Amino acid sequence: MAFHDQAAAHIRAIAPYLPGKPIAELARELGLDEQGIVKLASNENPLGASPRALAAIENVLMDLARYPDGSGFDLKQALSARLGIAPARIVLGNGSNDVLEMAARAFLVPGSSAVYSQYAFAVYPLAVQAMGARGIEVPAADWGHDLDAMLAAIEADTRLVFIANPNNPTGTLAAPAELARFIDRVPAEVGIVLDEAYYEYLPVELRGDSLAWLAAHPNLIVTRTFSKAYGLAGLRVGYALCQEPVADLLNRVRQPFNVGSLAQAAAVAALADEAFLEQCLQINREGMDQLAAGLAALDVDFIPSYGNFICCRVGDATRINQALLQRGVIVRPVAGYGMPEHLRVSVGLAAENARFLSALAEVLSR
Ligand code: PMP
Repeated sequence: MAFHDQAAAHIRAIAPYLPGKPIAELARELGLDEQGIVKLASNENPLGASPRALAAIENVLMDLARYPDGSGFDLKQALSARLGIAPARIVLGNGSNDVLEMAARAFLVPGSSAVYSQYAFAVYPLAVQAMGARGIEVPAADWGHDLDAMLAAIEADTRLVFIANPNNPTGTLAAPAELARFIDRVPAEVGIVLDEAYYEYLPVELRGDSLAWLAAHPNLIVTRTFSKAYGLAGLRVGYALCQEPVADLLNRVRQPFNVGSLAQAAAVAALADEAFLEQCLQINREGMDQLAAGLAALDVDFIPSYGNFICCRVGDATRINQALLQRGVIVRPVAGYGMPEHLRVSVGLAAENARFLSALAEVLSR
């Protein structure tokens, strides 16, 4: 038997995560100029990173021979001050993807199960499967989480429930009151991973008070990221908020130096740059309106979204996607999510959104 055939069956069965196509790759494939390519495929911040984050990175460059602070002291202090939560309840991750995986590593074993929704973020089934645990996928309601059905789907061996709010790729949101009710009803011995990667984009009245929920729920793990509204996707920094015993467990399965020094310094500075964050949120609101209006004008159905992306129903998404790529526009097919007629488009700058809409108009008219 070949060495690679000896990997555990549950590992060999993992379907690889399909990331958005990098600009350089499309440029190489089609012989296009990178400058002319618009990438709206990975829910990245079209304004880039805060200038203060960039300056903070420069200050750390001379220290690159040293390991980062494995305890993430400064970043935890900054988050603690901002969120009003003790540093011991914060776990830093190499992106929030890392803390999602830590939760799976800490709580799932073969013979256990985890519940998540149909169309929910692809990393949940991946993280569950990597642990040899069983995924219980609950049919969605109107593209979003059916919380009652998810509650009913919890079995005796269920250790975790994953909720993305807002969800990627559908952009759907569970209303705060419904979510609070759900969290109250999940059995105390089942962990709830509440993934708030797109939390900052929500208008204040739609933000659940997840940090207050943490106080009453020792089984709640809230995850957030600097990859989206803070524009630091390339650096990989995110975090989990939970009660101390859970943080302690997550830290045990965390790589000692999982968040690099540039990432930590940039995140501290980004957190302090509230004006830049506000500008990013404003650009997103305007861009979302522009895309929604543009799609409606083209008679293209879309799922109303609370994130920095929108899923539109274009019919034969494989063909439309290819035709968009030919025109230098990269968006994200979501057939892997069981949505073969949709494309997910990240909100870009006004000119990028316009470029996507005009390319789509051209492609649809053929
Ligand atoms: N959760 C959701 C819902 C996401 O869409 C993403 C990014 N695609 C992540 C988590 C992970 O992002 P990151 O690791 O960059 O924080």
